Amino acid sequence: MLSDFRSKLDKEIGPRKILHIKECEICGYDEYYFIDPETNKQLGMACEGCNYIKRFEFNSKN
Ligand SMILES: [Zn+2]
Repeated sequence: MLSDFRSKLDKEIGPRKILHIKECEICGYDEYYFIDPETNKQLGMACEGCNYIKRFEFNSKN
C-alpha cells in the first residue's frame, strides 16, 4: 500500500483493523473493509486502485 494512501486512511478512518479484502468491482484491485480494533464496529472501506475511501456513518437514532 502506498504511503500517501495510508496517511489518507489514517486521516479519514483512523485506527483500524482489516475485516476482509475483496476484489474491487471497478478496478479489480484489493478493496479493504475496516473495523475498529477495539469495538469491532465497521469503520469504512477503501480501494487503493480507485483512490477511494469511504467512512461508514452510523446514526444513533432508534
Ligand atoms: Zn477499485
